[in-house]
Amino acid sequence: MNKKTCSFCGFDDKAVTVYEDEVCFAIVSENPINKHHVLVIPKKHYESFIELPDKLAVHIFLVAKKLSKAVREACNPDAITHLFDDDVSKSGYNMVPHYKFHIIPRFKKDMHMIDWGQLRTDQNYDDCCKYAKGIKDKLR
Ligand SMILES: [Zn+2]
Repeated sequence: MNKKTCSFCGFDDKAVTVYEDEVCFAIVSENPINKHHVLVIPKKHYESFIELPDKLAVHIFLVAKKLSKAVREACNPDAITHLFDDDVSKSGYNMVPHYKFHIIPRFKKDMHMIDWGQLRTDQNYDDCCKYAKGIKDKLR
């Protein structure tokens, strides 16, 4: 998918737009993970988090913070989950391969699970240590 076929490039449905400035906009998702799901979207087409210029990444984060407060007040969720897209388009994880910051209100018994259920074992602790070393090596 390129900019010409991307539904977020040139998005202009003001009925679902809740915020707009010179570099980004926010909409109520028409394909929500949970009800009242809001997306913060850069106007310029980026496919991954790591492609965002630093200044834009900071800006989107601050807009998401402001919108999360408004979402809390608008729909009174029990919690909010924030998700970010990064490199999700190449394997079909994403319906629209245009970077977006997800603000997902959570409600008791909404049945949307992020499974934190892996218990610590010696084996997975060893795997964690090996993985941590791999990340630290890449940061050097
Ligand atoms: Zn786009």
